[in-house]
Amino acid sequence: MLPRRIIGYHLDEEGHWVAELECGHGQHVRHDPPWQVREWVTTEAGRAAHLGTILSCVRCAEEGDPREAKG
Ligand SMILES: [Zn+2]
Repeated sequence: MLPRRIIGYHLDEEGHWVAELECGHGQHVRHDPPWQVREWVTTEAGRAAHLGTILSCVRCAEEGDPREAKG
């Protein structure tokens, strides 16, 4: 578990929401019921309410934290 705060969002080329994490990585936050229920990501108010929410960054676990790699 490498906890990272959500600092923003953008849409990918397929129209899926990607949370921008403080480490610089992005992570999909799909609303894809019944497997992934994140209805909040579909509304601007919901996204705003989740700024600062902690996600576990898979890419930091696999590749390392880019903020540390910069030295
Ligand atoms: Zn990361």
